Amino acid sequence: MKRRTETGIIYSLSCFAALILVLFPSLAFPFGFILRLLVFIGMAWLLYFYFTTLHTSESKDELDDYLLETTSFSEAPQVPVDFLFNEIQSLVFEIVNSVNSNFKPGIYLFEGQNNKLIMQGNSDSYFSKDISVENSIVNQVLMGMESQTFYQKDFGKEWNDIFGDKPWRGSECIIAKSIRYNENPIGLFLLYIDHFNQLDHHSSQIVSQLSEILSKNLENLDNLDLQVSSNRKKEKILSFIADLDFKDDAKHIYQKFSALIQFFIPLDQIIISSEKTSSHEGIIDFMKEEDSSFEIGMSFDLKNSILGLPITHNGIIDDALLRDSYPDFIRNSDQNGEKISHSIGGFLIDISGQKWVSVILERKSGKPINQIEIQSLKTFMNILETVLKWQQEYKKIYLNATQDGLTGLLNHKTFKDRIDEEINRAKRFKHDLVVLMLDLDKFKRINDTLGHPYGDYVIKTVAKILKDNVRLIDVVARYGGEEFIIVLVNTNMKKALPVADRIVKNISEFPFSVDNNDVKMTISCGMSEYPKQSNIAQEIISYADQAMYKVKKMGGNQVMKYEV
Ligand code: GH3
Ligand code: MG
Ligand code: MG
Repeated sequence: MKRRTETGIIYSLSCFAALILVLFPSLAFPFGFILRLLVFIGMAWLLYFYFTTLHTSESKDELDDYLLETTSFSEAPQVPVDFLFNEIQSLVFEIVNSVNSNFKPGIYLFEGQNNKLIMQGNSDSYFSKDISVENSIVNQVLMGMESQTFYQKDFGKEWNDIFGDKPWRGSECIIAKSIRYNENPIGLFLLYIDHFNQLDHHSSQIVSQLSEILSKNLENLDNLDLQVSSNRKKEKILSFIADLDFKDDAKHIYQKFSALIQFFIPLDQIIISSEKTSSHEGIIDFMKEEDSSFEIGMSFDLKNSILGLPITHNGIIDDALLRDSYPDFIRNSDQNGEKISHSIGGFLIDISGQKWVSVILERKSGKPINQIEIQSLKTFMNILETVLKWQQEYKKIYLNATQDGLTGLLNHKTFKDRIDEEINRAKRFKHDLVVLMLDLDKFKRINDTLGHPYGDYVIKTVAKILKDNVRLIDVVARYGGEEFIIVLVNTNMKKALPVADRIVKNISEFPFSVDNNDVKMTISCGMSEYPKQSNIAQEIISYADQAMYKVKKMGGNQVMKYEV
């Protein structure tokens, strides 16, 4: 700005001098000399101004443009928040689908002033395009804070307003929760379930968590919309979000995030670390470049490392703060024999109120990371925080829905999906596979004599023994109370028999013990084989089950193959 005023003054003065010289070409010394000197200085200044300011700012257009945009809120956003919100919706639908492909999810939001909720994006076609807030189901959901379940049999017209007039069986139900913005209801998240026997505590948990995700992210996206005003930048951020796979681990997210920041702001190093739970240490999870001082997986003392500074300082670290308060943490490097102090930016990300992530950014040469850049980087950190929260929610929901809570093994439903996948794979690669069905012998006496918690301990321990005796690629599930099922992939009956024998033997020898209460347990195991005995999942499971019951009849603690 200052440069522009100076240029204006010098430019006007030299134009004025040139004009006088044109009007009075033979002005006597010293006036003529001073005027000529003024014209000369004006020309030289113009050239200098062009090369130092205009020319270089052209090549740095990307960065300057970005920095200007992120600090100005004047440009009206043209890519609406909806655009980003669609991405979140797709994510939510993807989560529902991966949890149970029979569930049909729908999202409704208020649009405009009327009393209608409008179906959003790719909601399932099962739902009506719009529904009135006067609908009593809708009304109850909007007023409530928790997820609620509604059964078709309890509603007539109200149900049809949401789903249309169809021949209902009465077993259909929905779980629903409101979507909120700054605490106010602005829409609904619905999950349609064909038969209430598919309802379990997971389903309502899923609805709760997903509507929370939708609510939180509407607020996040609005903030993002305020902070980034350029469409081009929004698109870049959007494609970053769209590219993410939430089944990925955090490292992949960091990699993509690092590329995103690099697109806007040149940096030499990005180090992302997280706080280890219940210790004063951090661990490095990601580094953009290899480094002589740090490496991925390295632990460090939070108090004595620059990497822990955002966590111990509880906030943003900029260059000035670092130089004033923590001069020992400044890194130097030699460039052409000259010592260069690195410029640092540090950020703290709070994922869950318990887990902290620190991001340290470094620039080794050129301009130090300045305040405007720090402000812009804050926006990116908000995005990373949001993304990491999504990822964590996804994991929680996914694990809740696929794992058995007591043992951590796959649950019954997920097992059914997995055995289909494994049979398809075996078909493709012309492999065999073996199914083991296992049921603890006389387990009820444990609960009856030593109590339910002891029974739980036995089930948990047996699950661990099963896991420890098979390969990582094998599928182990809790099929029922004290019933387990295993798919040994890419193997045949002959090779699987010793594995089954070992499992039965290890369980019979295991010294179960809690508070000096010692117990011995045995298990019965039945086996069947694909494709020799059948190529249908349900049949193979049933054959293994029949073989297991034969063992039971003979007193248990054995392995038996299914035989026709
Ligand atoms: P059998 O030799 O014929 O298999 O006899 P059993 O006593 O094992 O009989 P059954 O399979 O019918 O009994 C299973 C018992 O397991 C009944 C149920 O109370 C108990 N159970 C099921 N799930 C759990 C659980 O999560 N924890 C505990 N502690 N007990 C469970
Ligand atoms: Mg049993
Ligand atoms: Mg049983």
